[in-house]
Order: sequence, then structure tokens, then C-alpha cells
Amino acid sequence: MNPGFSQGYCPTIYGPVQSRRHGRSLGINLGVAGQKICSWGCIYCQCGMGERRAIRSDELVPSERDLLELVRDKMNEGVDFDSITFAGNSEPTAHPEFYSIVKSLLLLRKQFSQSWVLNCLSNGSELDRNEVVRACDLLDETWIKLDCALDELFLRHNRPIPKVGGVSNHVGRIEKLHRVFIQTLVWRCPSNPQVSNWTEKNQNALLSLYCRLRPEKIHLTTTARAPAIPGILPVKANELVEFSRKITGLGLEVEVFP
Ligand code: SF4
Repeated sequence: MNPGFSQGYCPTIYGPVQSRRHGRSLGINLGVAGQKICSWGCIYCQCGMGERRAIRSDELVPSERDLLELVRDKMNEGVDFDSITFAGNSEPTAHPEFYSIVKSLLLLRKQFSQSWVLNCLSNGSELDRNEVVRACDLLDETWIKLDCALDELFLRHNRPIPKVGGVSNHVGRIEKLHRVFIQTLVWRCPSNPQVSNWTEKNQNALLSLYCRLRPEKIHLTTTARAPAIPGILPVKANELVEFSRKITGLGLEVEVFP
């Protein structure tokens, strides 16, 4: 989920990087710089396989105070950016101070009279906690992953830890948000079609879930960086556009990133 670094070291603050989806974006990694730990283990993850488990609060860095200092430094240096994105190589919303960090960054934006967008890329697995829901509702945009709308694909490809449950549990958590933003990543695997989520069945199931969730916006993407396992290939741009027309036909806004 990290737009600036692949399969390795990811500092607490990086960039700004030119993100296709979020403009010139200052990235924030709330996890350990050199370690990927996530409650999902997506087979296409650009951070590599890492460790698939719940993260302990003592593994999340930095403290709110240190992070604010780093962001303030960037602003004092006159660094220009369009957005701040929580991404990195761990699930950002698992940070124990996430709610407070979001509130403080919004305050900082006001104090500096700036207009950058504050957003977060998330797998949504922490939305069981009310404080995380409140934090996500404060953010300008919280982009929740929804790649697989069928349990068999979700469990096989996104590989969540057992406490996450299946698709219905995932969707139930997303429904707690007041404003829903969905990021869907699709891929092919010609050498082993079982490993693909680009199937008609999954596309139809995704359309049904979009209808149910009525997101404000959907980002439809495909693999653009080295995936965690070999053989995964991007879906062709014309196929993405064709699928996006079906989404638009539901009266929903979608942006395609081939
Ligand atoms: S949710 Fe998936 S893509 Fe994002 S960091 Fe975790 S394993 Fe990687």
C-alpha cells in the first residue's frame, strides 16, 4: 500500500512522492521502518510477504509527538505537497494513537493554513474499534481495500488472519464509516488462473457490493509494482475501462489507474 518504497526499508516519513492517486504526497509509515507486519497477506503486496499477524502496539512507531515533529519540520522547510497519506508497510490504523495523530495533523494543517488532503490506505481490519472508525471519519479520505468479493478469493488472495473473518465481516466493518472510499486492485495470473481475481464471478460480486456500500468514490487499480509472488500480471487498461463503465452504470464514481 506504500506508494514510495517496495519490499524493504520504509522510513516513518518519506517523500513527497508523485502518487498516481494522491498527487504529490507525503507518506507516513506508522510501522517499523524495516519490517512488514500486516493482518492481511495479499499475494500482490509490493512490500513482500513479511509477517502476517496482528501487530502488537509496542511494535508501532513513532510516538505521536515524534511524528508531529517530523511533519512540522517538513512544513517549516517549505516542502510543498498535495496530500499526506498514511500507508507504509504495516496497517496504519493499528497504531494505538491513530485517532489522536489524525486529530493533531488536522490541527497542524489549520495552524499552517494549508490545504493538503489527509488520507489513509487501509485494509479496514481495525474498524472493529470505535476509535478507529472515528479517526477514519475525521480523515478527508480513508481508502479501504476491496479486491475480492467472494470468500474463496478473499481468503486465498488477501489472506487475512482468522479474526478478520470473511467478506461479510469485512463489508460489515466498512459499513460503520460515514463516508466510504473503496480501492479495488485486480490482477491476472496466466500461468495459474486460480491465483487471479480477474474473473467474471468476482467482477459481478464486486458490483453487488459496490451497490450495497454506495462508496463516494472507487479507485480501480491493477498491479504496477513487483508483487509478493511471481506470475501476477496487470489487467489491461481497456478491460479496466470496460469494467469501470459497469460501475458508472450503477451511478457510482470511479477512477481507473491502469
Ligand atoms: S493490506 Fe495487503 S497490500 Fe496492504 S500492506 Fe497488508 S498485505 Fe500489503
